[in-house]
Amino acid sequence: MLRASPGNTQPQGTNPRSLLRLMILVASLSIAFIIAGATFGIQQVYTAHLISEAEGDAVDISELILVHLGQLILRADQGGKEELVIDANNRAELDRQLRTFLRPFDIVKIKIYDLEHKIVHCTDPALIGRVDEGNRRLENALAGNNDSKFETKDAVLDLAEEKKFDVDVVECYVPIRSAQGAILGSFELYLDVTRFRQEIGSGVRASIGILTLILLAVFAASFLVVRKGTRQLEEAQQALQRMATTDPLTGAYNRGEILSRAREEISRLQRACEKLAAPSMGLIMLDIDHFKKINDSYGHLAGDQVLRELTHRIKLTLRPYDIFGRYGGEEFLALLPGTTLDGSRGVAERLRQVVGQSPFTAEGQNLQVTISLGFATILPEEPDLTEALRRADEGLYQAKNSGRDRVCGAVPG
Ligand code: GH3
Ligand code: MG
Ligand code: MG
Repeated sequence: MLRASPGNTQPQGTNPRSLLRLMILVASLSIAFIIAGATFGIQQVYTAHLISEAEGDAVDISELILVHLGQLILRADQGGKEELVIDANNRAELDRQLRTFLRPFDIVKIKIYDLEHKIVHCTDPALIGRVDEGNRRLENALAGNNDSKFETKDAVLDLAEEKKFDVDVVECYVPIRSAQGAILGSFELYLDVTRFRQEIGSGVRASIGILTLILLAVFAASFLVVRKGTRQLEEAQQALQRMATTDPLTGAYNRGEILSRAREEISRLQRACEKLAAPSMGLIMLDIDHFKKINDSYGHLAGDQVLRELTHRIKLTLRPYDIFGRYGGEEFLALLPGTTLDGSRGVAERLRQVVGQSPFTAEGQNLQVTISLGFATILPEEPDLTEALRRADEGLYQAKNSGRDRVCGAVPG
């Protein structure tokens, strides 16, 4: 009469909560990367601006040096052609005037190079006469270009011969040109820009603060939208799950779900077999007696109410971990983990009593309802439910044939 059929397999959809967690992780990492990248970028922009400002100052200062101290640095030959020459007799005077001239500016050192890369004068006398071969930036300046670079120095000796530590400098090479525009050499000026450090720091902090706030606001807004979406998705998923696993009329598990749970229980039973001396699982198949008559006499709706009330009474009687489901029209199946054949008989008898002991109320009528039950146990060596179902079905058949409203069991074999 009844045969086991493959149950529903629960679709393993993506969990919306884990999607949300993934989104939080990705967003947090993105924010961290964006902020790190932006901090670096903004710092670069500020530094580039600082370099360009310092270079402008260096060009102005170089021009002023040539205007005011040109006679100590440049010499014109008979043809009026200028060249870079520092007379040894003028050096002390040049040094004194240069220091006086540069005092108002934040300059820590100045070098004057000739076309042969030789330092012909420097506020640090130890460097005079040194030839700076392979200096690309100097070559660039001697080719007629300004060349500036930002650097942080551990220590520098300033024009007042004082040692300064941890100093930000912009090193600017500025070409020295004759009145006719010919390149004669190059200045190298070290401009102390340490005083801008704090300004840049607070500029970067303010920009990053604003960026962080914007990112957090965008993230919070998208989080709320996504969370709302995931909640709806979760609810829809739960509803789908319910629809796929339960019988809409009674709320009991449907046939597919009960068979799928039976498979899980059987594999658990087989695992437990190694630990327990006598592992067993009971199985009860029950069917409402003369249900067709209820439908015919009181209507289909009354029949539906009976099915619901019966499910309710049985669920209250079974243990929380027993598995109960609607197997077909007015046939139900109960799986009783950890229950022996005797135990199953006892449970089946109790179920028979809770159904038959008091009338059901349906469509304003009191109806006497009885059920017939067949019980069996699933043996650990059985690979699936088929044989146990056959035995329970046989028991049910006997119960029906011997007068209904009774419990019968079939012995394995
Ligand atoms: P028996 O004692 O031999 O089991 O007799 P029975 O009348 O209970 O069995 P039968 O198989 O002849 O009739 C079962 C009836 O159950 C037929 C069918 O219309 C009814 N049925 C099946 N599903 C539902 C349902 O969801 N709601 C209602 N109201 N009736 C249903
Ligand atoms: Mg019936
Ligand atoms: Mg039936």
